[in-house]
Amino acid sequence: MKKVAVFPGSFDPITNGHIDIIERCNHLFDKIIIAVAYNPEKKGLFTLEERLEMITNIYGHHKNIIIDSFEGLLVHYAKKVGAKIIIRGLRAISDFEYEFQMALMNRRLDDKIETIYMMPHETYSYVSSRLIKEVFQLNGSVKGLVPPIVEMKLQEKFRKKLNK
Ligand code: ADP
Repeated sequence: MKKVAVFPGSFDPITNGHIDIIERCNHLFDKIIIAVAYNPEKKGLFTLEERLEMITNIYGHHKNIIIDSFEGLLVHYAKKVGAKIIIRGLRAISDFEYEFQMALMNRRLDDKIETIYMMPHETYSYVSSRLIKEVFQLNGSVKGLVPPIVEMKLQEKFRKKLNK
């Protein structure tokens, strides 16, 4: 049976921290589904389409990596796509409490689906999409922390905002 894992998140935008986790998973699973969560209540910097576009630019040619979006409960989505594994990244203790709650709630909702946590390389352990956006907006360099396509899209986005 093929081992299918889903890696869910906001990916607003995808960073090299996310990519580090995806690369580690690539050795472990037959298929990875990068699933961008669509939450109409939570307005991000990038639209769902823009987030998907950036991820597709990076992983569009990998035949074992699927790029998708979902709305609603993650366990329902995982079941629908035949994934028994949820991948999440753990950067620091500060991630732990929320992740612990989510993992146990998801287990309660569907105990056939396991959540597995991966630690990124220490180079990325302080990287978050939120911090990337903050630093970039204040004219700091994020080179090496996000893929070049993301740097480009950040530039476009903030240039547009400045021109408004
Ligand atoms: P969410 O809103 O679901 O937390 P994110 O896109 O912020 O969405 O994160 C998706 C997953 O990727 C989470 O499990 C998060 O811990 C993990 N992640 C984010 N940044 C990093 C990083 N720098 N290193 C490792 N994991 C990360």
